Amino acid sequence: MLDKVVIANRGEIALRILRACKELDIKTVAIHSQADKDLMHVRLADEAVCIGPASSVKSYLNVPSIIAAAEVTDAVGIHPGYGFLAENADFAEQVERSGFTFIGPKAETIRLMGDKVSAIEAMKEAGVPTVPGSDGALDDDTEHTYKIAERIGYPVIIKAAAGGGGRGMRVVHSEASLINSIHVTQSEAAAAFGDDTVYMEKYLENPRHVEVQVLADGQGNAVHLYDRDCSMQRRHQKVVEEAPAPHLDPDARAQVLQACVDACIKINYRGAGTFEFLYENGGFYFIEMNTRVQVEHPVTEMITGVDIVKEQLRIASGLPLSLKQEDIKIQGHSFECRINAEDSKTFLPSPGTIKHFHAPGGNGIRVDSHIYNGYTVPPHYDSLIAKLISYGEDRETALKRMEIALDEMVVDGIRSNIALQQEIVKDCRFQEGGVNIHYLEKKLGL
Ligand code: ADP
Repeated sequence: MLDKVVIANRGEIALRILRACKELDIKTVAIHSQADKDLMHVRLADEAVCIGPASSVKSYLNVPSIIAAAEVTDAVGIHPGYGFLAENADFAEQVERSGFTFIGPKAETIRLMGDKVSAIEAMKEAGVPTVPGSDGALDDDTEHTYKIAERIGYPVIIKAAAGGGGRGMRVVHSEASLINSIHVTQSEAAAAFGDDTVYMEKYLENPRHVEVQVLADGQGNAVHLYDRDCSMQRRHQKVVEEAPAPHLDPDARAQVLQACVDACIKINYRGAGTFEFLYENGGFYFIEMNTRVQVEHPVTEMITGVDIVKEQLRIASGLPLSLKQEDIKIQGHSFECRINAEDSKTFLPSPGTIKHFHAPGGNGIRVDSHIYNGYTVPPHYDSLIAKLISYGEDRETALKRMEIALDEMVVDGIRSNIALQQEIVKDCRFQEGGVNIHYLEKKLGL
């Protein structure tokens, strides 16, 4: 097992990783910015190193500082969490080249999946169902581009190969605006990602977002941990997640789960990963793979009993997967509400000092959060302050417990989106399950 690990992240995920390390008797090094010295995990880690000023470019994205912190503390592994450098292939490469273990996939895998054109190609080859599309990057041949769009059928969506965070996409409804939309997307992609490669996909009008969690050891073994539904989104940002995804076509589901496992073996995947799909009319369409632990991983942990972060640490230590597919069973249902430091109506971020925090509890309630009474939420980072997770033997029970927990939860001193989450869990259509990705924005009148 790895002896000492640098946690190259902040907030709730840094604390989550710290707890997993402690369970496995792995020593921990917290790295933090000047603005984050009071973070919960910084106090609880065996060692802490300040790696730079508040700005993430100078701290959590500062590769030489992070590697130097690993060197001075004699750490052996680096866990990137999610966000920041978690899907940066150059970082993974530099970590390994400096003699440390990157707790995640090989750099070449991150690179393959980071470019959506190559990711889709690899997945298609591995038998994973994809969205009908241009099968590669678009070129300057406008006649050919028109033909591709005609074959796919309007509406189509133009997407940046290097895109992420819901940026670099444009829907096109007719031939008249096709070429112009491609040019605009290309220049936006060049400015935002330094790469103007774009491709075309069929625009699915009312899909759900369904994703598959996998674990693989890079030694020929892979399993899936079933699916999650993350269709409750605002501006492509997930707001509520659940596992398993409700009301899926059982045959299509079984096929896609198996296809994900086969794909992991085919690309010799290592670590935890998520295959993201759009799901419409009983069909799955791959859109991208995330080569890291995800914010919503706890809902899968609740229904399978598998600790995903501990598995990441075991895999990175070189241990073969001890889990067998036939041993992984779903029991019950789980929801996660993301609690953000933001106004429930305007969505404006609300940093500041938390005067009073009361965490809900009781049967089937889990709170993954780094906040405490008197903690000051800095203005420099993501606004996620807590993940409220509920579990129940069935969907209805899990949802009822979430409703009760949201009513119990208190965050005073700053604004939070608890009121929005209370409204969501009481929504009739959401309670039935299976709403599409536009549902929340329509409900909010956006
Ligand atoms: P990102 O990496 O920026 O998150 P994705 O490829 O995962 O980009 O797409 C983000 C979101 O954009 C999806 O969850 C979905 O809401 C929408 N989207 C992407 N591709 C399509 C498509 N072909 N049809 C309809 N919506 C799409």
